[in-house]
Amino acid sequence: MSDQPQALWQAAQQTLRGMLKTELYNLWFAPVTARCLDGDTLTLEVADEFCEFWLKDNYLDVLRSVVSRVAIRPIQVNFAIRTGEACVETPVQRETVTEAAPKVRSVHAEAKAQESAAPQNREGARKSESLFNPNNTFETFVVGANNHHAHAACMGVAQKPGHTYNPLFLFGGVGLGKTHLLQAIGHHVLANKKNARIGYLSCERFTNEFIEALQNSQLTKFRKKHRELDVLLIDDIQFLQGKERIQEEFFHTFNALHDSHKQIVLTCDRPANEIQGLEQRLISRFEWGMTADLKAPDVETRLAILNKKVAALSVNLPEEIILFLANRIRTNIRRLEGALVRVAAYAQISGKPLNLETVETLLREILQEEGKVAISVGEIQKRVADYFDIRLADMTSKRRPENIAFPRQIAMYLTRQLTEHSLCAIGESFGGRDHGTVLHACRQVRDRMEVESKVRQDVGYLEKQLTR
Ligand code: ADP
Ligand code: MG
Repeated sequence: MSDQPQALWQAAQQTLRGMLKTELYNLWFAPVTARCLDGDTLTLEVADEFCEFWLKDNYLDVLRSVVSRVAIRPIQVNFAIRTGEACVETPVQRETVTEAAPKVRSVHAEAKAQESAAPQNREGARKSESLFNPNNTFETFVVGANNHHAHAACMGVAQKPGHTYNPLFLFGGVGLGKTHLLQAIGHHVLANKKNARIGYLSCERFTNEFIEALQNSQLTKFRKKHRELDVLLIDDIQFLQGKERIQEEFFHTFNALHDSHKQIVLTCDRPANEIQGLEQRLISRFEWGMTADLKAPDVETRLAILNKKVAALSVNLPEEIILFLANRIRTNIRRLEGALVRVAAYAQISGKPLNLETVETLLREILQEEGKVAISVGEIQKRVADYFDIRLADMTSKRRPENIAFPRQIAMYLTRQLTEHSLCAIGESFGGRDHGTVLHACRQVRDRMEVESKVRQDVGYLEKQLTR
């Protein structure tokens, strides 16, 4: 029972990580641990009094709300100072931070919290280790066929920064381990060379700092900060898209570092040449060194990841539940992890044995999200064509009789509901129709569902079949 608060807090951390900007989360929430759960009060351990005040002032409501949501009952949050941990700040720096930290009142203010709480003020005061999530190390990274190339490239870079591949360009879809590997490099470099100067920031942050520097006439300082590093780690470089002035600045940062054999690692959600509006000279530079991609994990890797996390959480979960998770959540490791933590927290808090039915209810939203990505337009078209007994080719044809046109509209509607494709992309998949046609189809189906029960039944049945 002693690890009950840990499981609860880990589940809450997962939620917080999804809500907050990475830097903010890593700086303030990742280092917090759970001490005990006493009745309805969770006590969190923080490094020092300042952390306690800052979290209380800015995030108490958010913390309460998130923890209560995970526990499925109201939970109060208390703080305790961790003993025996050295503090690396000076009181003077703290005061500056206190002033800068704005108030955030509720979980609904997430967006505001993400934008305004200014963790960077504190960053200079803290050791750079705290910039990285302590869980994102090479040790916790499971290597599989989907990522072994990227993993090897990162290891190479971490061991000999600036000497193996420069730059290293990592790309892959959401939740596949890009940030994890990027931070693992940071951890590794710091472990071997304590005073290595590491710059770790999201591309968005680079942009914001640049704009701020421009406004405050502090460009020289900005440049010095980013060009005198041993290792520059930039996450989500796709945000350079279409931003000419930032691209220009980044180009010079890149050159300064590269010319002096300093390591650059970039992550991106797509290959460099697919970033729209990215200058050719940057594309070619990004491709100078090594490019490595991360793919979705196969079922063995998913199981290995789950088993590793189960061990870390020290929970006991029936094998059939681990298999269920591995089979149902395929496209995103963050989601897989989120599902596991949720199930584990429930198991520990309820104290009841888990069965698949409970798990399915618990994970309804997560499974729905997963379903969205997993269904292809082709599958939807085929199911709908079969159901209405029309030819698959009619999904993309120009034929307009009602018995063909309406099923086609239903297929468009379902594609809109069940996938994340844009209206334009959907139009494209239905024989090169424009987005207005898709929008019209969606409205048409919705209107008819409201008044015709037969249409409601047809669509409902198809939707169920497709998301099973
Ligand atoms: P991305 O930056 O690609 O969106 P992240 O690096 O944030 O994804 O990974 C999402 C979550 O999945 C993180 O919690 C990360 O620790 C975990 N994760 C991803 N890949 C692995 C892996 N191979 N082994 C263990 N955990 C992983
Ligand atoms: Mg990331």
